Amino acid sequence: MRNPSVIVFYVLTFVCCSTSNSAEPFTLAQKSLQRLSSVEFTGREPGTSGHKQAQQYIVSVFNSDEKSSDKIVLHNFTYHKNFQTKLGTNIIFHKIGTIYPNKLIVITAHYDHLGKQGRKVFLGADDNASGTAIMLGLQQFFKNKKTKYSLLFVATDAEEDDLAGSRALVQSNYIIDKNIILNINLDMVAHGYRKKYLYVHKKSADLALDKILNKYHQIDSNVTLKSKRYLASDRSSISRRRIDLAKASDHYEFAKIGIGYLFITGENHKHYHKPTDSYDKVDINFYGKVFASMKSLITLIDNEI
Ligand SMILES: [Zn+2]
Repeated sequence: MRNPSVIVFYVLTFVCCSTSNSAEPFTLAQKSLQRLSSVEFTGREPGTSGHKQAQQYIVSVFNSDEKSSDKIVLHNFTYHKNFQTKLGTNIIFHKIGTIYPNKLIVITAHYDHLGKQGRKVFLGADDNASGTAIMLGLQQFFKNKKTKYSLLFVATDAEEDDLAGSRALVQSNYIIDKNIILNINLDMVAHGYRKKYLYVHKKSADLALDKILNKYHQIDSNVTLKSKRYLASDRSSISRRRIDLAKASDHYEFAKIGIGYLFITGENHKHYHKPTDSYDKVDINFYGKVFASMKSLITLIDNEI
């Protein structure tokens, strides 16, 4: 049964406390990945102090320039889990485009994860500190650049709770009735394993996106984006069966209201939803390539779509 959400908006008027905003974008992404998946953030389960710290960290990195018309917004919502009402918070940075300010490209990555079970901490380095940190680096890269379209960078919450954060987001004033060009959703992008590529999933027969992906592969050799709908299960993982990428993460909520999407993700692996999904498993060289490839892809989309 689906429960109604109560939606509250806060526009932040303060500039928070981090010095990280002056970092080079990939350095910032790498540092953010390490930080978000550290024990200090206790697995980022909604309602915990570690989750709150992750939220404060993301706000500090977004760090809105007071003189700019770009804004950071905390989008609070409620949802139901195990007969309890829980509070979630999507964190939004809105960068205004120069030619089509009312048309939006929405870049999402969920920052919540599974928290703790007893002494075990589910650090969630790949799932999804990796996507969140790339998104933060991209925000840093694009925030002072001119883009044709407005960009909405969103750290979504409660993805692990049946996509509750993105469901509330697409029902909010930030998405509904807006002209959304595309959702680009990053989830579990740190592991290329031996093949060193990522998967991309989109609605079939989206010719404009096909053209852009072809062009991307002509100009960027950092990471191949291989089209895929289903991921096979990892034999060592009992929890992760064959995965339908169309429904696997936040882009599904965008798709349900008719918005096109690109879902970028990595290989299924044995650390999925286990305490061993930690920063030390990440190949930083590959992760740097992922960052570079996402920069080119978004630049290309902004220019060509
Ligand atoms: Zn997950």
